[in-house]
Amino acid sequence: MNTIKTLSLKSESRVLLRVDFNVPLKDGKITDTRRIDAALPTINYLLKKKCRVIVLSHLGRPKGIGFEPDFSLLPIFEKLQDYLGKSRVKYADDVIGEKVAKTVNELQSGELLLLENLRFYKEEKSNDLDFAKKLASYGEYYINNAFGVMHRKHSSVYNLPLLFPVPNKCCGYLVEKELLFLVDKLKEPDKPYAIIIGGAKIADKIDLIKNMLPKADNILIGGGMVFTFLKAIGNNIGRSLLEKDKIDIANEILNRGKEKIILPNDIVVVDDITNPTYILTKFLDQIDEKDIGVDIGKETINKFSEIVSHSKTIIFNGPMGIFEDERYERGTKKIIEAMTKVKGTTIVGGGDSAAAVKKFKMENKINHISTGGGASLELLSGNNLPGICALEEK
Ligand code: AMP
Repeated sequence: MNTIKTLSLKSESRVLLRVDFNVPLKDGKITDTRRIDAALPTINYLLKKKCRVIVLSHLGRPKGIGFEPDFSLLPIFEKLQDYLGKSRVKYADDVIGEKVAKTVNELQSGELLLLENLRFYKEEKSNDLDFAKKLASYGEYYINNAFGVMHRKHSSVYNLPLLFPVPNKCCGYLVEKELLFLVDKLKEPDKPYAIIIGGAKIADKIDLIKNMLPKADNILIGGGMVFTFLKAIGNNIGRSLLEKDKIDIANEILNRGKEKIILPNDIVVVDDITNPTYILTKFLDQIDEKDIGVDIGKETINKFSEIVSHSKTIIFNGPMGIFEDERYERGTKKIIEAMTKVKGTTIVGGGDSAAAVKKFKMENKINHISTGGGASLELLSGNNLPGICALEEK
């Protein structure tokens, strides 16, 4: 695949840049600019090359029937003006139509034009070809830097790049880094290779575990999903999370990965998650009917940390407990902390896992924190991303 550097960009070239500016907003103000910050290296490179950059993004979940002020990209336009200078950054209050086409035509070399929210048109999510054709008419090059949506067959992610010839399209710097860590470095990972899997639902992680069975040396399972595994091997799990319809698949996975899959031996249990009258650490055979498992216990933390400390490649996908609550954050915190001490490749994937790393202020000590929960899960599960396939296809 092309990279930004191998694209034959000239000054004046019109470049369509798909980004993920889906930032959190409160009362019309951006509360976390990281998604905009992450796009700056690609934007700056294009502006320095004196390209004319047409920026496409979605924001939130508008109805898809036209402009809605709550989902407008105006706050992002203002932020881009702060970052890049007022005169260089333009804004169009729509995505398609004559007025937008005129604004695109008037764009000067070294200027950026931010179009409004793509999702104001239902055609974006339905991968509409005509919508893609209208967008394609704005430029000669297409760059996708929106890793967070590359697992979606949306018009600006899939049909739009398919309309460009291979030499005229590529991914941006942010996506390049995601692919480096989530694909390239994992082809022949430094060993031992460990993956830590947690979070609420098994259903989302089955493909991931299956894909890792032949590859990883150790698969450590915690979080809410572990209780279906524990139930499958005959443990009493009290009132902990259980996906009854997944017990069989949990059993199958455990049989296939006997030597690799490591389950907790102690669990932090409560009688009520919000207002507990007790918070106890129990061994598996002590768990009774009233108990709800909320975190991994001390012995498990030690066991998991020990494995992590001897590993050279480590992926963390899904928290070990209900880390949002300080009382139940210890397992997640300690395992991430153990990762930060390892001299090797450390990768965190998934929205909640990234939020945990941020909460514990360990962001600078992890090699790669993925910006896309769904997209990283797909890659780690061994699946292709439509947004990447479309960049490789003629
Ligand atoms: P996921 O999106 O599947 O990665 O799940 C992340 C969520 O799993 C977080 O919000 C955690 O609070 C939740 N979680 C982790 N451990 C547990 C548990 N023992 N019981 C219930 N929820 C949990």
